[in-house]
Amino acid sequence: MTKASLRDVPTAELRGRPALLRADLNVPLEDGRITDDTRIRETLPTLRLLVEAGARVVVLSHLGRPKGRPDPGCSLRPVAERLGELLAARVHFHPELTGPGTRSAVDALAPGEILVLENTRFDPGEEKNDTSLAGALAELADLFVNDAFGAAHRAHASTAALPERVRARGGRAVAGLLMEKELELLGRLLAEPERPFVAILGGAKISGKIDIVQSLLPRVDRLLIGGAMANTFFRALGLDVGASLVEEDRTELARATLEQAGDRLVLPVDCVVADRIEGGAATRIVPRDSVQPGERIGDIGPASRALFETVLRPARTVLWNGPMGVFEQPPFDEGTVAVARAVAGATERGALTVAGGGDSAAAAQAAGVTDRLSHVSTGGGASLEFLAGDPLPGVAALSDR
Ligand code: ADP
Ligand code: MG
Repeated sequence: MTKASLRDVPTAELRGRPALLRADLNVPLEDGRITDDTRIRETLPTLRLLVEAGARVVVLSHLGRPKGRPDPGCSLRPVAERLGELLAARVHFHPELTGPGTRSAVDALAPGEILVLENTRFDPGEEKNDTSLAGALAELADLFVNDAFGAAHRAHASTAALPERVRARGGRAVAGLLMEKELELLGRLLAEPERPFVAILGGAKISGKIDIVQSLLPRVDRLLIGGAMANTFFRALGLDVGASLVEEDRTELARATLEQAGDRLVLPVDCVVADRIEGGAATRIVPRDSVQPGERIGDIGPASRALFETVLRPARTVLWNGPMGVFEQPPFDEGTVAVARAVAGATERGALTVAGGGDSAAAAQAAGVTDRLSHVSTGGGASLEFLAGDPLPGVAALSDR
């Protein structure tokens, strides 16, 4: 990695020093209760390092979409409480982001203590990448640590303007341990994948993923495509997809991609179809050229599962993004579960396997393979933009190594 990491900062320099940690603590809340604390847990290694080194840690994060004004339903207070339960450290919460009260709360922090400030998105300057908000925050510390990979594709005040201001004032802006891990693993996929390198793309729309297809095609040995994305490729082959989700206006793009990819691009050969994609719907398994008018494709079929498994068997590097079908609705989850297990099998044979994308992480969880993959990226949109080759503003703003 060309960017500086927290591990480049000597531990002795951290003792008693205020450090601003931008984390991604954007957890799902229901009635003020955290329903999934994965994002909190993922950033614990960075927090532990800072706490054990005796830094005075000021934590920043967004949560939800409060649109630039305070919204009690999006408060970080429950997150601060959960951090206190998970860490052997004192965790304080301050219900503001800037101002004299914040300053005093930071000054009162003892070495090894944590102060969580209120939601960055309560301030209208956050999403505008406002330099005065960044300037106010930069006065709190001369060390900025960004562990929020999931927010790195956004140029917001706490991810972009703030590290720039910290550096302009002579301080350092470094990647946290989670950010470093994400960049290293995803970077390895793009830079020096062990071969064969197999990518699996699925999900709803080709339009949202065409940049990734373009970025991956020259790099992969095989690109497997499932999900509704495959339907647009079926149309490009002149096949009927009945009432399936399809992007007719992308058919030409799909045709050009097929031509460019040759036999590296592998499409499903059969499909699970139904009149409606609902639980209890009667399903049929049909070859991909036999979808009837009114039928909807809800998943890849068993022959496609076997084909995809065969392609995955020798893989040394695997990237998986996007479900193979409507995995939220059994029985249309079988293709996704089979692919998830095949990817887990590749891990067990020594391959580097990475899942990226919000729904892919959920699908890996549903298939019970999260712990059997090398890495499940915590950044949905960020991992997709990274893999498409786009620079991430939150990474670009960090100090060079
Ligand atoms: P990710 O978040 O992993 O990048 P996407 O957001 O692109 O994935 O796509 C996930 C969605 O795609 C899921 O909600 C799933 O139901 C939908 N999907 C997958 N296959 C189909 C299909 N054949 N028809 C309709 N929707 C599909
Ligand atoms: Mg999604």
